[in-house]
Amino acid sequence: MVSIEYERRIARRFAGFDQDGNGYIDREDFNAAAKAVLAAFGTTARSDKGQALYIGAEAFWQGMAGIADRDGDQRITREEFVSGAVKRLHDNPDGFGEIARPFLHAALAVADTDGDGAATVEETVRVLEALGVRDDVAAAAAAALDTDADGRIGEAEIVAAFARYFTVPE
Ligand code: CA
Ligand code: CA
Repeated sequence: MVSIEYERRIARRFAGFDQDGNGYIDREDFNAAAKAVLAAFGTTARSDKGQALYIGAEAFWQGMAGIADRDGDQRITREEFVSGAVKRLHDNPDGFGEIARPFLHAALAVADTDGDGAATVEETVRVLEALGVRDDVAAAAAAALDTDADGRIGEAEIVAAFARYFTVPE
């Protein structure tokens, strides 16, 4: 018996990936995510950081498709997401972090405007909002990421939190 709460949680995760809201996850959603993050920081797609982000988005998509696109039609439906991705991600959260790492690494480089290797809480909120996360949720998530409260959020914290968000019940 699948609980209503579980269904809602899955729906939110799915909606997070389905950036254009057309009911399935595909390459365009990952490109849209890269585009939105670049726009939030005024970074062009053809800059080094922009190209790295698109390459990371493509790798992320390929990794997700490898896990979840069971019929190989280059779309992940909600059914495929639930039966494929959610189970696999839950069984192997570190593996999911590795799939997402090139994208997260590149997104951090875009957000890290002073180039010190970490994003501020404010910069992290801007990334999350660009990805469609609600303001209050983004602020709470970014604050929670800064576990030692030094105002800086690094790659390891981001990758671990991302894996946790998609794999562990809230
Ligand atoms: Ca979509
Ligand atoms: Ca499919």
